[in-house]
Amino acid sequence: MDDRARDIAPAAQEPVPYLSGLTDIQRAAVEATEGPVLVLAGAGTGKTRVLTTRLAHILRSGRAWPSQVLAVTFTNKAAREMRERVAQLIGASVEGLWIGTFHATGARILRRHAELVGLKSNFTILDADDQLRLVKQLLESHNIDDKRWPARAALEVIQRWKDRGLGPEKLGAGETGDFAAGRAVELYRDYQARLVTLNAADFGDLLLHNLTLFQREPDVLASYQRQFRYVLVDEYQDTNVAQYLWLRLLAQGHRNLCCVGDDDQSIYSWRGAEVGNILRFEKDFPGAQVIRLEQNFRSTRDILGAASGLIANNESRLGKTLWTERADTDKVIVRGVWDGESEARMVGEEIERLHREGTRLDDVAILVRAGFQMREFEERFVTLGIPYRVVGGPRFYERQEIRDAIAYLRVVNQPDDGLAFERIVNVPRRGIGEATMQAIHRLARARSRPLVEAARALVDTDEIKPQARAALRRLLDAFDRWRALTETTDHVTLAETVLDESGYTAMWHNDKSPEAPGRLENLKELITALQEFENLAGFLEHVSLVMDQDTGSGDAATLMTLHAAKGLEFVQVFLPGWEDGLFPNQRAIDQDGAAGLEEERRLAYVGLTRAKRHATISFAANRRIYNQWQSALPSRFIEELPRAHVAIGAAPGLYRMGAGSKEGAAWDDDVPGRGPGFRRMHQAARGAGAPLLEGRASVVQVDATSRHQAGERVFHQKFGYGRVIAVEGNKLEIAFDASGTKKVVDSFVERA
Ligand code: ATP
Ligand code: MG
Repeated sequence: MDDRARDIAPAAQEPVPYLSGLTDIQRAAVEATEGPVLVLAGAGTGKTRVLTTRLAHILRSGRAWPSQVLAVTFTNKAAREMRERVAQLIGASVEGLWIGTFHATGARILRRHAELVGLKSNFTILDADDQLRLVKQLLESHNIDDKRWPARAALEVIQRWKDRGLGPEKLGAGETGDFAAGRAVELYRDYQARLVTLNAADFGDLLLHNLTLFQREPDVLASYQRQFRYVLVDEYQDTNVAQYLWLRLLAQGHRNLCCVGDDDQSIYSWRGAEVGNILRFEKDFPGAQVIRLEQNFRSTRDILGAASGLIANNESRLGKTLWTERADTDKVIVRGVWDGESEARMVGEEIERLHREGTRLDDVAILVRAGFQMREFEERFVTLGIPYRVVGGPRFYERQEIRDAIAYLRVVNQPDDGLAFERIVNVPRRGIGEATMQAIHRLARARSRPLVEAARALVDTDEIKPQARAALRRLLDAFDRWRALTETTDHVTLAETVLDESGYTAMWHNDKSPEAPGRLENLKELITALQEFENLAGFLEHVSLVMDQDTGSGDAATLMTLHAAKGLEFVQVFLPGWEDGLFPNQRAIDQDGAAGLEEERRLAYVGLTRAKRHATISFAANRRIYNQWQSALPSRFIEELPRAHVAIGAAPGLYRMGAGSKEGAAWDDDVPGRGPGFRRMHQAARGAGAPLLEGRASVVQVDATSRHQAGERVFHQKFGYGRVIAVEGNKLEIAFDASGTKKVVDSFVERA
């Protein structure tokens, strides 16, 4: 043992307090320090805790000193927490430990040996924008039409190759990439060459260069293999091939590799994660111990029961049992609401109530499937003054596409807004480049006039090149046209027109990157948001106020995507938007079929198992998407929840009736506190001659005051004949024979 190890090693017989809180099997996993170990276990069974304790144990028992241990976690935050936890467990600082994400660790190694792969040690790590700019330049120099073959698609192909550990030289003959008739290969080669010239690496390179380095320089690899006596990996189910190869090389020296993971929580296949890595662990590391933990320490019986029942619907899984000693039960609540707004209101009120009753906001999370869902919650929280933070991404109004769109609207609203003008003057690209902007700035400064005015003056001169001039004139004319429209059209239609005519929406439509559909959804959500305001100025005012809201670092509720919630836990979890199409997400199913659906289900499982005590699932009967109301069906995942663990929320308003599944009828029997509301619902169904359990979409209003009832045939002046689907107060949702489903006011409708 070397001196530094001895400093933190305990005296031989000293009891080890950090081991005493563990179960026998967890303790075995901690103490099995030698040889390959796979801890394969469900959510909340203490995998991360085992990994952390194991690290502490390795140090405390003097098996290694800090720099000889490599621990890889999924996020920087997890790395920080692990470092703190270890320090706490061993009561000493852990300087020198290698704890970090794959990327951070890869970068650290690469900086030391950069010259060996043609970089300097101070290389730049490119962000997504830089990467994109670079690929665009390459497309141009290769004469590839970026309208037909967008840069993002090329980048996507390149990134997937990197995820698989394939540099350009490793691409086999069959690997052409689905881009520009096989030209991605040459682009990839040039892209890598350009990065070297720039002394830069992208995220994928951080590992890819490591792999090249290890293969080319056996001495370097051997030195790391000697150094890292112990290698520990969390969330192993989400590693991609490059990460897997990297780990396998590094752990080969001492073969003391411990990976922990859960195949049911693999949710990153769209980023190249291969759940197969976990399945072939035993083959790659013969003699590996596989340890299974089954006792869950996080959640109540009901949350566990609901989550286990749900995930049992997946076919491709190893299958595990989970149990808990906890006696407290608290059923998972499923609540149907009228629309997104009432959903946000319901969650906001619940949070206020919990807070009043003493729950810390830090213990509350709202986990959404898609980024656009956040807006309604953010606005609600701002209104109620509930501090919140958005984890893993910008707040809604800070997103790139939202800022761009708002910049257009700002210029329409206020022509002197030079900052907004500059932001979008060449977005989408219309050939107004740096030189033109400089000329505009120069004139604006010289005359002390606003930027747009200077631009207007310049289009009548020869200061700028004819092409740019024409483009600028078109843009300025467009702004004039849009401004004139404010007299005759409402602000919502105006905004749609602006986004369409400017080519901004089309820009994202043509974009083949995985983020593009999400950005389009956000733009639609922006239009939805506009409808809540009287006019454009009112909306813009609201946005600047929301943006100014400082959420600070105090006690705050967390708003994040399900993907970002992996590994975390909260006392109360809200899971909104459980509607078919939204969750499971239609795109995932369209793209990957049954496998896509199973990944969505794993995501639902991850979401539910984040909750320690309460989980509230909600679905809205209607979503306003873009300019239209769409009626939504409750997610099929709701039907899959074993009803013994679920209670239908006792909220006034809508109750979801049977599911058109074999369990449909039983749902009703099971609802606790079934009272007058349910009787009325039955009466309503009888009165309307509609079956109570009319399939998945049948939602029946309980507290209706309308003189109309679900199932009734009605006539509407504008929309014609239709049938009432649902009633809320004096609002009706009607499926019109000719014009689709609409939400209308009761008094405009007559019985047909
Ligand atoms: P996930 O799959 O969600 O990442 P996990 O398996 O990593 O979950 P942990 O986060 O390590 O689980 O543990 C879940 C919770 O249970 C934590 O609050 C942890 O402190 C607690 N826990 C784990 N083991 C024990 C134990 N033996 N006694 C008491 N609490 C425990
Ligand atoms: Mg964990």
